This record gives sequence, structure tokens and C-alpha cells, in this order.
Amino acid sequence: MRYVSTRGHAPVLAFDDVLLTGLARDGGLYVPETWPHFEPDAIRAMAGLSYEDLAVKVMLPFLGGTIPEDEFAELVSETCGAFGHEAVAPLRQLGRGDWLMELFHGPTLAFKDHALQLLGRLFDHVLCQRGERVTIVGATSGDTGSAAIEACRDRASIDIVILHPKGRVSDVQRRQMTTVLSPNVHNVAIEGTFDDCQDLVKALFADLAFRDEMRLSAVNSINWARIMAQIVYYFAAATALGAPDRKLSFAVPTGNFGNVYAGYAARAMGLPIERFVVGSNSNDILTRFFESGAMTMGGVVPTLSPSMDIQVSSNFERLLFDLVGRDGAKVEALMAEFRGTGAMRLPEGAWRRSRELFDGFRVDDEATRLIIRTLHEETGELLDPHSAIGVAAGRAMNRDPMAPMVALATAHPAKFPAAVEAATGVRPGLPRHLADLFERPERCDALPNDAAVLADYVRAKVAG
Ligand SMILES: *Cc1c(COP(=O)(O)O)cnc(C)c1O
Repeated sequence: MRYVSTRGHAPVLAFDDVLLTGLARDGGLYVPETWPHFEPDAIRAMAGLSYEDLAVKVMLPFLGGTIPEDEFAELVSETCGAFGHEAVAPLRQLGRGDWLMELFHGPTLAFKDHALQLLGRLFDHVLCQRGERVTIVGATSGDTGSAAIEACRDRASIDIVILHPKGRVSDVQRRQMTTVLSPNVHNVAIEGTFDDCQDLVKALFADLAFRDEMRLSAVNSINWARIMAQIVYYFAAATALGAPDRKLSFAVPTGNFGNVYAGYAARAMGLPIERFVVGSNSNDILTRFFESGAMTMGGVVPTLSPSMDIQVSSNFERLLFDLVGRDGAKVEALMAEFRGTGAMRLPEGAWRRSRELFDGFRVDDEATRLIIRTLHEETGELLDPHSAIGVAAGRAMNRDPMAPMVALATAHPAKFPAAVEAATGVRPGLPRHLADLFERPERCDALPNDAAVLADYVRAKVAG
């Protein structure tokens, strides 16, 4: 198994190099050269496996022999052990043909743990074997930072520096980062906005001498291994609900398109998935795309579901690659047009092909509150605003009553207690492992919005 860039120029790489490289050198994203395929009998045989065993089966073909199976199984086993539910990703029935898959039982209560818990272990494994170290630098507006810190804490071969905008993340989100006191974790509160933080990270990466000196690396959502880890829960849901002999659909609250793209990959590997409903909040670039065939950037407005407040869905490029017949030059031209003009229109055939599989649906804040309240009244289930968008979108766009619709619940309600309480009157409590979060000591350094100051800081911390 080897990996090619969506823009066609970067070197073809094996799994371990794709893992450490992240973004391809031509600006593209890595995807498998071909999709591994499971025949119906092989899928039938997956029913009843533990999440752990299923995960090894589904992911092994992607490694292409770069990590021995028993060592990989050990990493997967540790990853699953970090989740607070024995089923790892439990399915709950909401109604007839109406299902919810809870992806929020990881250490930081968001679905990002599914990918990052494995990614941290994979990084450490590969780096230890090579005798190398990296410094991971990232910016966060909330969920990604804590998931990345939990994934990298105490790992011998990694230093991690996470920037957040000072005073602009929620108390729960900040404390999930700053109460991790491991010596290899460095939290920085920047005097500025999330965009300032992102620009600082870009500035560090753009300084090639510094980048090489510090061996900078990233774990953002364009890393292929994150997609790979997310494919597993689509297999878990599908086999539990009767695949390969029964079709099903998924409704996915979407920002960067990473989660729903993993579902697309699972379908390419043989699952009988009929449709994907891509849920968005008022930042609805994807919904508008599926309606019109044109991808047009807009300004970002803050919503109840901040992890989906995005302007551009970076992982969409991976789908685009397939939609235009895996033609890297076409992807490059379309992406250049998009960056240059803020808009691109797909060839008519490519857009039509996407519509055979994907529906978009927009859920604004008012509709989000309404579905949180309705679902609580109907079933007692408390949904966070992101998960609520998935459920609302799935119900609105369910075209085939014979195929179960599985909405993915991407965050625990206690991560967004104010919105949940406003909609239901019930304040969701933190799970036991975080119950004392507000009593724990914090460690965080405040820095001005200045790339040179940040570079000195990183150098000093990594040296120490
Ligand atoms: C990151 C995130 C999303 C969006 O997922 P993508 O893979 O970026 O589409 C949705 N919900 C929550 C809670 C998240 O943290």
C-alpha cells in the first residue's frame, strides 16, 4: 500500500512517511493509491468482533507492512483502553431506523480522540524506532488542542506546543489543555484571535531553517492516519446493523470534511452505505456546494457548534480527487482557482457524481436548540450542539425508510453545557474522569502575537 498526493507531484510514500509528513510537498493531501476491499463474506465475518479486533482488521491493509501486526494490535489495544466505554463507540437507538453512534467517550470528550489517541501512539512508535524526535506545533479554537495534548502527553519522542487565543476558549476547553502538566506539553495563550494563532503556526512552518532545526510536525486533520482511524467506526456501525446484507446511511456533523470522508473511504472498501448526509451550521459552504456545484467561500460566523465554524473544508480535496477521476493536475487547477478567487465550480459530471452519494443540510442555531429539546423529550438523550446537527440533518434528509440512518455524535454534551442547559433545562455533568477538572492546577504561558518571540519560546522549551 502506497500513498499518492491529490495534486500529483509529491513523491509516492509508504504509510510511515505519510504519517510523519502530513501535508504533501506539492500542497496536496495523501490518499491511498488504491482502496483495500473487503468482500461481503469478510464483512459478514466482522459481526461480533470486539472494537479492537475489528479496528486491526480494517486498518491493517493501510499499513502496507510498515508496522508488524502484533505491534500495531498493541497500539490499537492501548488506544481502545483510553476510552471510557467498553464498546468504545456505542450505538443507541433513537427511534425506528434512527440511530446515534456515540463517538465522545474518549479522554477529551470529542470524536477527535478516536483519531488522535491512535496517532500519538503511531508517531511515538515510528519515531522511537527511527531514533528521531519531533516538535508538534498547532493552534486550536477548542477541541483539537486538548485531543492532541492528551494524545501526545508523556511520549518520549514528542514535544507538543499548542496555541490558543487568550480568553477566547471555554473554561472546560482551556482546562482540558492547561491541567495537563506533563513536561513535554507546552500550552501558550496568545494575545489575539484564533486566526492570529493559526498565522503564528504558519509563520513557524514557513521559516524552513527553524522548521528543520526543531523538526516541526503537525497533527492537523489533513493527516492521513487520522482518516484511517475514523474508518473503523463506520465498519462497527454497519456490521452491527446488518452489513453487508442491509444498507444504511450516515448523517455527519461536518467541518473540515475529515469525518465524513472516512465514511466515504469505508464505502469504497465495501460497506453497503447508501448515502451520507453532510450536516452544517450557518457556516454552510458544503451545503451550498451540494445544492449548486459551486464552492464559494464566505465569512465565518460564530455558532453554538464552534468546531464546525469553518470557511474552507480542507479534506474535501480528497473527495475532489476522486470526483475528477484522480487527475492531480485538475485538482491543482481547481484549488488554485479557489484560493485565487474564493470560488470554484466543479465540472457538471463531477458534481452529479457527488450528489449520488452526498446530501447537504444546514441547521441554524435555532433549529439546533429545537432538536436538542425535542430529542431530550422523546428519548432522554442529551445531545451537544454538533451532534444535534447530525441528528437533525439525518432526519430531514432520510430518503429510504428501509435503510437505517446513523447520526454520529461528535461531542459529549458536558463539553457545551450552556447550550444544552438552555435548550433542555438540564445541565449535563462531566464524566467521572474529569469531575475534578475545575480543582486541578493549570500551567500555561502567555505570549504576545509575535512570531519571533514564539520561536524563541519553542527553542527554549524543546532544549529544556
Ligand atoms: C472537529 C469536530 C467536528 C467536525 O469534524 P470534521 O472532521 O472537521 O468534519 C464536528 N464536531 C465536533 C465536536 C468536532 O470537534
